[in-house]
Amino acid sequence: MLSEFDLIAKYFTRPTPRVALGIGDDCALLTPSAGMQIAISCDMLVSGTHFFADADPRMLGHKSLAVNLSDLAAMGAKPVAYTLALSLPKPDEAWLKAFAEGMFALADLHQCELIGGDTTRGPLNICVTIFGELPVGSALRRDAAKPCDDIWVSGSLGDARLGLAACLSELTLDASTQIAAESRLHVPTPRIKLGIALRGLAHAAIDISDGLIGDLGHILKRSSVGATLNVDALPAGPMLSAQAQELQRRFALAGGDDYELCFTAPAMHRDAVMTAGKKVGVALTRVGTIDAATGLRLVDAGGQPLEFHSASFDHFKTP
Ligand code: ADP
Ligand code: MG
Repeated sequence: MLSEFDLIAKYFTRPTPRVALGIGDDCALLTPSAGMQIAISCDMLVSGTHFFADADPRMLGHKSLAVNLSDLAAMGAKPVAYTLALSLPKPDEAWLKAFAEGMFALADLHQCELIGGDTTRGPLNICVTIFGELPVGSALRRDAAKPCDDIWVSGSLGDARLGLAACLSELTLDASTQIAAESRLHVPTPRIKLGIALRGLAHAAIDISDGLIGDLGHILKRSSVGATLNVDALPAGPMLSAQAQELQRRFALAGGDDYELCFTAPAMHRDAVMTAGKKVGVALTRVGTIDAATGLRLVDAGGQPLEFHSASFDHFKTP
């Protein structure tokens, strides 16, 4: 059977030309570029909580890194390197090969190098810590939203939740719709280029992992402001758009796992924001306004208030 060190050497050790020291010593070494701050984030994926135990390993490799890259995107940081802490029931080589391929394909796309980690036997658990950089003071922080800012979202919302609903047999989709929706769930696209393009334009930003209402709520709380959201302006995903209006609203507002960015920007930057989205090839939609009064108000296209009760995901809250 493959030893711990053979496993690391065979599947996870690759050249790391962009960093001072990669895998193999007690620590890796990063040399920050002049005038840059290091952005650090850590996300853990637990079997049975974040994915099904028999999940496709290639997609899991992609998603483990993608959710971390998405946090860098939400700060406007450029990816540099990451570590991987892996707990595995057994060293299954076919699984490891596919997992590593999925992970490295995305890492290469963003020139982000695996510089270390830890490997233990145990229940399947994947923990990535990622390091990015951005010019000092340019981070898109959750506490930076200002009254009268526009609220924007990137791409489209709710298709990942639609994919989850199909996986859980909450509803039935035709085969091609199900494949497309599940791909939004299992193979998210981190909006790295968009985050970088929004430096100096956006005030606050967050990535939508737990649902728009919950994640926007973090910005509102940290910034001590409120918001009005136009529910009819939300960009429902292409698969979700074929569903009934009630489901579209529910999944666009509170479905998780889309990994789009929600950000606020002053109205004077409207054109520049649109140009930034075009430059990086990501659709951007204005969905509301930051208010000085706290609390979140939902309205329809005519400005009529809407009620909404479904909360976003919280690991420790009982329904
Ligand atoms: P230590 O005992 O000093 O923590 P280890 O023996 O656990 O070091 O790991 C040896 C080297 O392999 C270290 O550089 C560590 O960062 C790296 N490493 C261990 N597991 C992984 C992994 N899953 N992915 C990438 N690098 C790893
Ligand atoms: Mg160790």
